[in-house]
Amino acid sequence: MRPERGPPRGSDVIVIGGGFHGTSSAFHLSRRGAKVTLLEAEYCARHASGVNAGGVRTLGRHHAEVPLARASLGLWHNLPELLGEDGTFVPSGQLQIAETPQELDALRRRVAELNALGFTHEVIVDAQQVREIAPRLAHHVVGGIWVRDDGHAVPYRAVTAFRLAAQRLGAQFHEATPAQTIDRVGNQWRVATPRGVFTAPWLVNAAGAWSGDFAAQAGDVVPMKPGGLMLMITQRVPHFVEPVLGAAGRPLSFKQFANGTVLIGGGLRCAADVVRRHGEVDFIKLSSSAQTVTDLFPHLAGINVVRAWAGVEAFMPDEIPVISLSSRAPQLVHAFGFSAHGFELGPIGGQIVSELVLDGRSTLPIAPFSVDRFAPVAVH
Ligand SMILES: Cc1cc2nc3c(=O)[nH]c(=O)nc-3n(C[C@H](O)[C@H](O)[C@H](O)COP(=O)(O)OP(=O)(O)OC[C@H]3O[C@@H](n4cnc5c(N)ncnc54)[C@H](O)[C@@H]3O)c2cc1C
Repeated sequence: MRPERGPPRGSDVIVIGGGFHGTSSAFHLSRRGAKVTLLEAEYCARHASGVNAGGVRTLGRHHAEVPLARASLGLWHNLPELLGEDGTFVPSGQLQIAETPQELDALRRRVAELNALGFTHEVIVDAQQVREIAPRLAHHVVGGIWVRDDGHAVPYRAVTAFRLAAQRLGAQFHEATPAQTIDRVGNQWRVATPRGVFTAPWLVNAAGAWSGDFAAQAGDVVPMKPGGLMLMITQRVPHFVEPVLGAAGRPLSFKQFANGTVLIGGGLRCAADVVRRHGEVDFIKLSSSAQTVTDLFPHLAGINVVRAWAGVEAFMPDEIPVISLSSRAPQLVHAFGFSAHGFELGPIGGQIVSELVLDGRSTLPIAPFSVDRFAPVAVH
């Protein structure tokens, strides 16, 4: 590609990364009148945001994430008003099943803790109720947690809905435009790319598994680790389950699409190559996941898997993201490290970024997501 020369191109905010969090940030910022330029190294939703399981799940969240996840779910239910389309969201409910009395006791303790914090969206269901929700489940299942208003969406289409809405509001998207270096010069950020230099007073680092480099360039060193996550999809089978299913005791995320195919995943980790920008499918691990599915739905024994893939995700050691102003560099917001569950948070993530840029603070409790939580504590 021949680099374009000429004067730096300016806007109010540059967003690095066209995943869900960058795209949603571009939308919410543009909605509030900011002039936004988004830079995407490949094409929007190419990585985790476009290839994930599409689970819109508030169930099972880290306590710190619950307020954000519930606020995001409100936006998911409201997408037609927000974007002019539903982003393919289906409010199917999500069910986490327990296969032993011990697992069910642990789920009961979790729900009691949430209730004590004032959250009532997770509800314990017994074996009979589980069978009413998912009649084909194996009979050894003893109960679970049910969240009625959770659901799922088609990832690529949900991100595209945000992208198109942002573009209608004037946001400029530049695909095939990787940010290379970021520098603060005077009161501006200068972002160098093979297509020239972009400038703006504010910068948003939403580069997913590649965000650590930009954080480090700004002086924020974070222990983010890129990793791969796998999914597989089966041939079409007659419709047998409506909600998304997870399991308390083993990795599982499972849903059937309207066309009959069944998507199987659940945090199945594999290797990722961030330089070549892809994940490596591990078929041995996938086969153990297939075994879980046939344990829970015996009628699926013998079903064909037609495709498997791996996406690249940014993992934090405490498995919650960084959504934070930088404390070392001015007018820089980080939003990365979603640790395998950032799709559901996409709609609210961008809103929080817009609040940090335009108001200097968020209306949601984001202190646990500070970039500084990993900074060494000074000993006097
Ligand atoms: C297989 C899989 C299944 C998952 N299932 C679920 C699920 O069911 N539910 C859920 O909530 N979450 C799920 N997740 C997690 C979720 O997909 C991620 O947490 C979320 O998409 C992260 O979004 P992001 O915008 O931070 O990152 P990304 O989607 O990775 O976007 C970052 C973007 O930045 C771009 N970029 C990188 N470097 C540069 C650069 N130098 N310049 C410009 N752009 C750059 C990348 O090309 C990429 O498009 C899953 C993830 C995977 C991989």
